[in-house]
Amino acid sequence: MLDTIWVEARRRLRSELLDKDYDTWIAPLRAARWSADTLTLEAPSGIARDWLRQHFLPAVERAVSEASGGRATVLLLVNRELSVPARAGALPARRAERATNGAPARYTFDNFVVGEANRVAYGAARAVVAQPGARFNPLFLCGGCGLGKTHLLSAVAAGLAHARPLGAVVCLTAENFVNEMIAALEARRMERFRRKFRGVQTLVVDDIQFLAEKRRSQEEFAHTFNALHESARQIVIASDRAPHDLPGIGEALRYRFASGLLAHVRPPDAALRRALVERKASGLGVSLTPEVASYLAEEWCANVRELEGALTRVEAYASLSGRSVDLALVREALGPSPVARRGPTLQRIIGEVCQHYQVARDELSGPRRTARLAVPRHLAMYLCRQHTDVPLARIGAELGGRDHSTVVHALGAIERRLEKDATLREAVSLLRARLGA
Ligand code: ADP
Ligand code: MG
Repeated sequence: MLDTIWVEARRRLRSELLDKDYDTWIAPLRAARWSADTLTLEAPSGIARDWLRQHFLPAVERAVSEASGGRATVLLLVNRELSVPARAGALPARRAERATNGAPARYTFDNFVVGEANRVAYGAARAVVAQPGARFNPLFLCGGCGLGKTHLLSAVAAGLAHARPLGAVVCLTAENFVNEMIAALEARRMERFRRKFRGVQTLVVDDIQFLAEKRRSQEEFAHTFNALHESARQIVIASDRAPHDLPGIGEALRYRFASGLLAHVRPPDAALRRALVERKASGLGVSLTPEVASYLAEEWCANVRELEGALTRVEAYASLSGRSVDLALVREALGPSPVARRGPTLQRIIGEVCQHYQVARDELSGPRRTARLAVPRHLAMYLCRQHTDVPLARIGAELGGRDHSTVVHALGAIERRLEKDATLREAVSLLRARLGA
């Protein structure tokens, strides 16, 4: 029970907190006891315990409550045996430097799984390490959460820091940049701050979207950017959005971000999902049946962090229960998948509608406009609209190549018809029940 709760709580914290916070503060904790809805956690030092109390206790208690399925309290104690020198030194003020000197060794090019979705980003990151400042400057990586941006940035930083003097490569989050700047302003040490950043050979900045609405920081960052760029020193940036989509960031800065190579990391396609499942499972020493591998690739791979969390839980569950990893165990360990929780897909809705009205799928998605197809097609549009967040244009494209305005028109028609047509209302509730929607 103790382990199960802590494994699950950690998984939640991992997806909620910044990686560096998780690695510094949560990962070193040891779960010592679980009784009377109280989880006792041991921290490696008094400083770590106090920092956790001040900054993370509510988040930890929430995660433990969710993991245990009831209201839980967390008790923090110190256990000095847990302290290891590397961690004992990781105080908040030194975090930026820590990131500079040692990107986590688990983020390398070798353990990055490459597919269509991230091939350009991966290739550009490698090119930057081979010839910094030469071709793609800045290299701007963008894409959704958990798709490997930080992984690639860390691999670049580690690749470049290797065999270069300490401080030549600086890798930090935009948040760290802002915090360092504020500290420098308060201590009247802006000169030193500027010298530090403008003197580096390579600057790697993660989560640049954090600069949004921070005018002073943007200004300072722009100066740093210019100084480095003008002397052909390499800049690598990651962001959750493309430069032109970054809200709250000045136009001049967005323009600079877009002046080099923009490389997307996209959600993995089927082949990459499969490769990720295999690599991540073998990394954890878990062997999967083909059936389990397909299930994980289909339903637990919208982002890689989600997959890693799922595999960790499966592994913990299997080893705690002494059972082998089959589909039943996986479903038990993981509960409903994010895909299932997100509701039915477009394809499932179309499939159910076809079955209900006894029409063939390619008829419904095809261009023919016979009267027999009108109601099922409109109903499929209506259900897709209500139960997915797929844009109207795509719904139209899937259902007979209709454009956005035709779909809007069809939705209106169905809504009017629903008011007077009891058979149609019955069909809707039947279909909703089948879709679990
Ligand atoms: P992001 O910064 O884009 O949110 P991360 O780089 O933090 O994502 O990736 C989340 C987790 O998934 C990390 O543990 C990372 O190692 C892993 N990961 C993401 N993409 C890949 C990939 N293509 N190959 C291997 N691991 C990956
Ligand atoms: Mg990241």
